[in-house]
Amino acid sequence: MTKTSDDYMELESANGAHNYHPLPVVLKKGKGVYLWDVEGKKYYDFLAAYSAVNQGHCHPKIIAAMTEQAEKLTLTSRAFFNDQLGPYEKFTTDFFGFDKLLPMNTGAEAVETAIKIARKWGYEKKGIPVNNAKIVVCENNFHGRTTTIISFSNDPVANENFGPYTPGFLKIPYNNSTALEELLKTEPNIVGFLVEPIQGEAGIFPPSNSYLKEIKNLCTKYNILFMADEIQTGIARTGSLLAVCGNCTCKNSCEKQETYQRPDVLLLGKALSGGTYPVSAVLADNEIMDVIQAGQHGSTFGGNPIASVVAIAALQVVQDENLMHNARLLGDHFRTTLNDFRKNSKIVKEVRGRGLLNAIELFEAPNIPSAWDICILLMKKGLLAKPTHGNIIRFTPPLVMNKMELDACLNIIMETLSNCETKTTTL
Ligand SMILES: *Cc1c(COP(=O)(O)O)cnc(C)c1O
Repeated sequence: MTKTSDDYMELESANGAHNYHPLPVVLKKGKGVYLWDVEGKKYYDFLAAYSAVNQGHCHPKIIAAMTEQAEKLTLTSRAFFNDQLGPYEKFTTDFFGFDKLLPMNTGAEAVETAIKIARKWGYEKKGIPVNNAKIVVCENNFHGRTTTIISFSNDPVANENFGPYTPGFLKIPYNNSTALEELLKTEPNIVGFLVEPIQGEAGIFPPSNSYLKEIKNLCTKYNILFMADEIQTGIARTGSLLAVCGNCTCKNSCEKQETYQRPDVLLLGKALSGGTYPVSAVLADNEIMDVIQAGQHGSTFGGNPIASVVAIAALQVVQDENLMHNARLLGDHFRTTLNDFRKNSKIVKEVRGRGLLNAIELFEAPNIPSAWDICILLMKKGLLAKPTHGNIIRFTPPLVMNKMELDACLNIIMETLSNCETKTTTL
């Protein structure tokens, strides 16, 4: 007997840990910007797996690379060399303009790796007294779910009752370089500043135009590592290869561009595989990366042959299809259209973002539907988006969307919002 959506949801509810609260839709197929549920209903994907599927679902070039490699060799561990890791490291360090890459799997592992590198660099290159290294992070950050990472989260949902917490982190407000300088003036044991160039999970908050330049300059002035977590913002999402590239739309490392605030440590994940496989990476130059020697860090799956070929293919697609450019054009169109709508709206408070990393924030009042309610209505109309913190909806479609598709999506979004403006919603 064929199972229905309800059957699958019940199976998860009965047998899986309840650590997520998904929208009630059960998907079985994806292609480009589209998803299909088990009943065969078609949707526009407006989440792209939190920006992991920038290249669109099941991109044929990425899938071909993956399946071809899967039939040859999948895993050797790093006890031996394999013939794909070196070419991947060469390709990717050239692509982003760094000396070295350290391969991991999930985003959180890349963050953990960066923390370890920064601490070791602090002790061995800066002479910080052992066990005293401090890393600066921002309020409302999101860097993943490990014990250490949630130790410096200020989201009670993420960290309550998971203590004792890992020490060695200092928190400052985001988008406030003065706060960083105040800290750097008084605290001598700081080794690095870990920051999302645009805060994603917090609700998509692009910083002021000068922020990245200011923090980059402070990191240089005080000799600490500028560690950019581009796991969500990177790989074309914001209309440039990396959010730290600013306005530059180069197809790979834009080191020569003035707008580029080059991090000392770059963290990538999510779209590094086009959403096909867990692939993350930490990139840095030799003097930083060389503090990690044999046996001091690693991962059984990190740098495996499938991950290596998948990541090359995923980056190649971004470059070949100039997804930076598309994200920029469509993103501008998206915000312009919805900002026009907002002018006559009683429920939309703000539209913000960069490239195709966008959010709309709704007013909060008893007669105004919640972000969750709106997402349910959007789902019924064939568009899948997810609420984030507060009354905010995140809109992050695959970057392979075209203008016609985006216009169709904007119509669905505006129609849904309009219906909520004019009548009390019945859900
Ligand atoms: C998603 C995300 C992570 C964590 O990645 P996982 O693969 O879920 O561990 C870390 N940092 C940022 C900015 C993210 O968006």
